[in-house]
Amino acid sequence: MPDDVFQRSLWYATAPPAPETRPLADAVKADVVVIGAGFTGLSCALHLAEAGTSVIVIEAGEIGEGASGRNNGQVIPTLSRAEPRELEDGFAQLVCDSASFTFDLIRKYAMQCEAVQNGWVQPAHTPGRLRLTERRAREWGLRGAPVEMLDRDGVERVTGSRFWHGGWVNKTGGKLNPLAYCRELARCAIAAGAVVHTQSRAERIERAGLRWRVVCARGEVTAERVVVATHATTQGLWPGLAQSIFPVRSYQMATAPIPQDQRATVLPFDHACSDTQGDLHFFRWDAAGRLVTGGALAVGWDWEPRQRERIGRRVSAVFPRIGVPVFDYLWFGHVGITLDRKPHVHELGPGVLAWLGCNGRGVGLAGAIGAQFARACLGTPLGELPLPFTPLSPVFGHAIGKHLRGFGILYYRYRDSQEVA
Ligand SMILES: Cc1cc2nc3c(=O)[nH]c(=O)nc-3n(C[C@H](O)[C@H](O)[C@H](O)COP(=O)(O)OP(=O)(O)OC[C@H]3O[C@@H](n4cnc5c(N)ncnc54)[C@H](O)[C@@H]3O)c2cc1C
Repeated sequence: MPDDVFQRSLWYATAPPAPETRPLADAVKADVVVIGAGFTGLSCALHLAEAGTSVIVIEAGEIGEGASGRNNGQVIPTLSRAEPRELEDGFAQLVCDSASFTFDLIRKYAMQCEAVQNGWVQPAHTPGRLRLTERRAREWGLRGAPVEMLDRDGVERVTGSRFWHGGWVNKTGGKLNPLAYCRELARCAIAAGAVVHTQSRAERIERAGLRWRVVCARGEVTAERVVVATHATTQGLWPGLAQSIFPVRSYQMATAPIPQDQRATVLPFDHACSDTQGDLHFFRWDAAGRLVTGGALAVGWDWEPRQRERIGRRVSAVFPRIGVPVFDYLWFGHVGITLDRKPHVHELGPGVLAWLGCNGRGVGLAGAIGAQFARACLGTPLGELPLPFTPLSPVFGHAIGKHLRGFGILYYRYRDSQEVA
């Protein structure tokens, strides 16, 4: 059974059904075994199957039960903190093109996932952050992103709110129903020849001669290559991997459908929107006119009533015309956070690939990286891929840090209140 919080999400209530799958119950062989049926694993599997390679995906829970089926569905072609100039050139370009990659894939396979590519807007919450958004727009624009700067009136026009000081739009961005997209990726991968086993937790990865064996409770897969696509839900599969990131809860909420007259005044061009705050303010409409939003908490106790109150107040402050909304859906998922706030990509062993640390920006990027992992499995040398491979580096003091990770939001709230350019 999928976990209770996942089942209470808006996406679980509205996505089309998942393709039928069953647990792994045999010892089987493939060219590639993928661990994890989220965007990374399923995009990798789809691209491999399309190329005629045999690929088996094993998933501990249901398709999309990790971050991929629980997120806000904003397709954002940037990272949350790292700027383009801090990234290797090829990787910056991959990030820049990741939203178009996603929408092109959706169009190519006619995936039914409420995809809307009307742009992503990042409003600035202080005048100093407006200068930050100017720099961002310039830097991404130099890489070919169709960007537009907005002054305060411009942001009011596209958001319906005077809350912000200006901002920028990246027109390749957009939004989708993330669980629907994930299930559609699975459906297309299976149609192309991939095999997906759900309710099959990989317990260990071990050497089997020149190949690898991935062992589950009731079966095992032997393959030449392994893609570890377990992201923030990674546990003890590979020494040090889980210790290289901090999984941090992100809370999501969806209102009851909002009447059309109020809706018309808020995000009237159907953009996805997330601002410059570390305590991110983010908003988007779903296909039925629900506002999908949420926010962070330092500690998780009593999270449901606290979030109804806090985020209700936030919505009415940012969009007074909506007032304090009724929330029909509340859920959370775990985001993989790295200390340097950059994605980490690793070759863990010969033919074993992994990446973690989306830092909250992976709806587009995860699928794009999954496609690059497929190229690697098909023989492209790692050095020719636009991926920033680094050695695995577990965080010193992780055992203590993981208990304190939620408090990071208090630092970000302080920083949000300070003017920095
Ligand atoms: C609440 C939330 C909101 C977010 N909002 C956005 C957003 O709006 N925009 C954006 O760009 N990004 C967002 N993100 C980030 C984005 O969702 C992730 O970057 C992306 O989904 C990562 O995909 P993935 O396939 O790498 O990992 P996941 O989707 O987490 O998939 C990992 C899978 O591995 C499985 N697994 C784990 N261990 C094992 C095992 N031992 N054996 C077998 N299977 C295993 C898990 O069950 C899971 O299904 C958000 C994340 C969260 C949690």
